[in-house]
Amino acid sequence: MTAQPKNPLEWVREDIRALAAYHVPPAQGMIKLDAMENPYTWPDAMRSAWLERLEQVALNRYPDPQAAELQQQLRRTLGVPADAALILGNGSDELIQILAMALALPGRTLLAPEPTFVMYRMIATYTGMAYRAVPLRADFTLDLDTMLAAIAYARPALVFLAYPNNPTGNLFLREQVEAIIQATPGIVVVDEAYHAFAGRSFLDQVGHYPNLVVMRTLSKIGLAGLRLGLLVGPQELVAQLEKVRLPYNVNVLTQVSATFALEHYGVLLAQAARIMEERSRMSTALQRMAGVKASDSAANFILFRVSPGGANQVHQGLLDAGVLIKNLHGAGGLLTDCLRVTVGAPAENDQFLAALEKMV
Ligand SMILES: *Cc1c(COP(=O)(O)O)cnc(C)c1O
Repeated sequence: MTAQPKNPLEWVREDIRALAAYHVPPAQGMIKLDAMENPYTWPDAMRSAWLERLEQVALNRYPDPQAAELQQQLRRTLGVPADAALILGNGSDELIQILAMALALPGRTLLAPEPTFVMYRMIATYTGMAYRAVPLRADFTLDLDTMLAAIAYARPALVFLAYPNNPTGNLFLREQVEAIIQATPGIVVVDEAYHAFAGRSFLDQVGHYPNLVVMRTLSKIGLAGLRLGLLVGPQELVAQLEKVRLPYNVNVLTQVSATFALEHYGVLLAQAARIMEERSRMSTALQRMAGVKASDSAANFILFRVSPGGANQVHQGLLDAGVLIKNLHGAGGLLTDCLRVTVGAPAENDQFLAALEKMV
């Protein structure tokens, strides 16, 4: 008997085959202002102290599955409410996935404003949840009436609010976020990935609302390569999420390095302060350019709009000048003609501004 020819692709879910892979553009040799990374490195003495700490790590042993020491350090440094529980992820991306895996059932909805962080939609798709996007207003504020109507209709299991929002950079109004938490039957995730640059938070509200959880990450404050995200929520809920988390999802090098970094949090905050100074200098410079309309930002990036039909040319012109930023024009809707630049070090920002000025 001859075996039937096999086509393994037939077994891959059709909705997965229909997806485009998350695209990370090559950045070799470029001034990299596309991914909200912190441009600064650590002082030499701190770097040496960190390497000494790493020398003692037992790579042959599995990491502490609870990452107890890191959890304690996070509680102290970030001021996690004492009665709230903490769950750690391999980046906050993994925490989004854990939430969705724990809640997804056919017919259940994940709801978020639009535009927002693209991972919410992607993970809804992976886990078979329906995704409901509610457009923001033209000024990127929440359209509360439409949000509340969509929540009443779809009864979402999960709502994601990035605070501040990516890619628009603004903080939604506090009262509107509270209204959404109260109206949502499922869980509301306030995603505070950019907290270090925003100064506002819902962390102290965890516990006041049974359905509120807050996510943070160390990525945007200088540790993107480590991959550590955290979620703070009510204990009973986090205990359920813990069942879905793979036991060793936060590796030992990340545990030790993140604990060390948090012991030196002042250094990271000082870097964030420099980034915020640069943000205001860049905003002023962008606002002075005739062909550019820049949005106010509470994050470490700035969204700006160029004249109609000009975004692709501006993006390519910047690439030719050695500067990589994010072109959002292809997303359409409110992001038509928009690009997003990450705030870098002063010399990088100067190079970006000089190249942009020649084109607009
Ligand atoms: C960057 C970003 C994240 C992902 O952070 P990681 O911890 O690096 O996975 C989550 N949410 C928002 C809104 C982001 O912009």
